[in-house]
Amino acid sequence: MTNQAKDCLFCRIAAGEITPQIVRETDRTIAFNDIEPQAPVHVLVIPREHHPSIGSLATADPELAGLLMAEAAAVAEELGLVDFRLVTNTGAQAGQSVFHVHLHVLGGRPMRWPPG
Ligand code: AMP
Ligand code: ZN
Repeated sequence: MTNQAKDCLFCRIAAGEITPQIVRETDRTIAFNDIEPQAPVHVLVIPREHHPSIGSLATADPELAGLLMAEAAAVAEELGLVDFRLVTNTGAQAGQSVFHVHLHVLGGRPMRWPPG
């Protein structure tokens, strides 16, 4: 596969070396349950290709960035969520721990705002 990063956890998922609980898949994206859910529904949506963050993805491949968001909405619909939150952390200080872009789809409980 093109554009994979060495020692990237989500590239290993895309390569099938680690098998999460998959919710939806397309030729360019994978949606799977977060291993440490922060809400009754907590799904991560990733592109199969390695891009470090949402900004770098949107610059390099705006179509794929759009597909990622469409997939997040499809996950919410498939799981019966009307209200949900989409989060994407950029940088360690913002809470990013895996440097392969992912959208968190969170729902199934009331969400606080601002998040703090
Ligand atoms: P972030 O901190 O925004 O980079 O989000 C990374 C997310 O990946 C966290 O919510 C982790 O719980 C989640 N995570 C880490 N390893 C796995 C894994 N093997 N399968 C599913 N989710 C994972
Ligand atoms: Zn990666």
